[in-house]
Amino acid sequence: MSHAPSPGKDGLRWYASGFGPKRSPEDKTRCIQSVTQDVGRWYTFPQCSHKRGHGPDGLYCKRHAPTPVSELRTWYRTNPWSNEILPVLLAKMTEQFAVFPDGRREKREQGHAFFGSMRAALEALVTRNERNAETARRNLAEHTASVVALKKQLVKLKEET
Ligand SMILES: [Zn+2]
Repeated sequence: MSHAPSPGKDGLRWYASGFGPKRSPEDKTRCIQSVTQDVGRWYTFPQCSHKRGHGPDGLYCKRHAPTPVSELRTWYRTNPWSNEILPVLLAKMTEQFAVFPDGRREKREQGHAFFGSMRAALEALVTRNERNAETARRNLAEHTASVVALKKQLVKLKEET
């Protein structure tokens, strides 16, 4: 899950840190995670700039240190456009962010929502589709079909648990 390159034959990790194929060797004082950097028209993936000292073998900075498996928890993420629910393992959930095991954070209000149980996620999708069906002019049939399908799943889930 961690975004850290594996060491090469020379024992060093290499990072795509600039334009084109140019790569930079690992700085052994810094965290091994590669980070995404927006440089205008493209992205590069340089080594994290923070000091290492946390996580396995002390190779990570505080923020990127992987969370021990025992502390991870399953959350259910809904995709309102496709009505899919995807279980995701998260290290932490705060008011603002869902924090992934590798330290990556995702803002909670970016269209996707995270729920503590499958049932809560399904119920939220049903509510959303019912609301959309009431106001939709163009996709009324689609939203109505979604509500029916989601409610069937919910019934099934209640029978199982
Ligand atoms: Zn780091």
